[in-house]
Amino acid sequence: MKEFSRNRGQGILMVIRIIIEAASAFFITAALLHYGTTSTAIGRELTGAQPEIALLTLSLSVITVWLLITLIFGRIYCSTLCPLGAVMDLAARTRKRDRIYRYKKPLTALRLAVMAAVFLLLVARVSFPREWMLPYGLYQSLIERITEPQVIGATLISALIFAVIAIMAFLRGRIICNTLCPMGTLLGMLSRRSLFHIDINTDRCTQCRRCADVCKAQCIDLQDHIVDMSRCVVCFDCLPQCSDDAITYTPGRHTLSDPLMMPELDTFNKPKNETIS
Ligand code: SF4
Ligand code: SF4
Ligand code: SF4
Repeated sequence: MKEFSRNRGQGILMVIRIIIEAASAFFITAALLHYGTTSTAIGRELTGAQPEIALLTLSLSVITVWLLITLIFGRIYCSTLCPLGAVMDLAARTRKRDRIYRYKKPLTALRLAVMAAVFLLLVARVSFPREWMLPYGLYQSLIERITEPQVIGATLISALIFAVIAIMAFLRGRIICNTLCPMGTLLGMLSRRSLFHIDINTDRCTQCRRCADVCKAQCIDLQDHIVDMSRCVVCFDCLPQCSDDAITYTPGRHTLSDPLMMPELDTFNKPKNETIS
């Protein structure tokens, strides 16, 4: 009898995640377009659950829920309830299968600088970042201006921004999420050491690279067997790719059976041969 594969089983997580992402994007868009009474009502509930709305309105209960969810499960918001993330995933899915992703080093300084700039502008009560730099606000601005054209220039610019986001997702997956999105950076700081994480068991890994090929966050470093959870958007796409049961979503951490393979870490917990950007 064929052995049950844990990774095939964990692949169900990916299917459930895609269904939640598609449904929430549909209802949130329906609420913005006032499409159907029930759809609009569900969409409004999902809008109220957006972490950026909670932060802007200082809704402590919603903030606490997202804090706990992210500390336990990682940046799962980015692959379920964020409508902009759903648009990027849709664009990325149109890539041909032979167009693979490769690990990229994090652009930490840029991510922190953008987040700090947005924070300072919000404190100074500048409305621009709320409408054009925070993920839900940007999605709302784009959908409203594209579907209810009042000023033709604003509609064209919005359509252009929407197209650029989709093209960037097609070419580089979640590159915008892991460079320019302040919410992604904030959630990434929390999810860096989340309880559940993507873990690679080096005793089983055959370095076939199939998991890294599909990682649109480009955060699986197979050289050092490290998954950068600050950039992982918890999409679960990598899990069903592994036929060796080596990559899993788990609260455990696997130690290497051969200590010589362990990367030497510096004081920043980074492999010594890697520079911090
Ligand atoms: S990083 Fe930002 S835009 Fe990307 S999915 Fe997360 S919240 Fe949405
Ligand atoms: S798919 Fe599995 S075996 Fe292949 S590189 Fe990834 S973790 Fe290793
Ligand atoms: S490591 Fe990459 S493919 Fe796997 S869950 Fe994270 S973002 Fe998705």
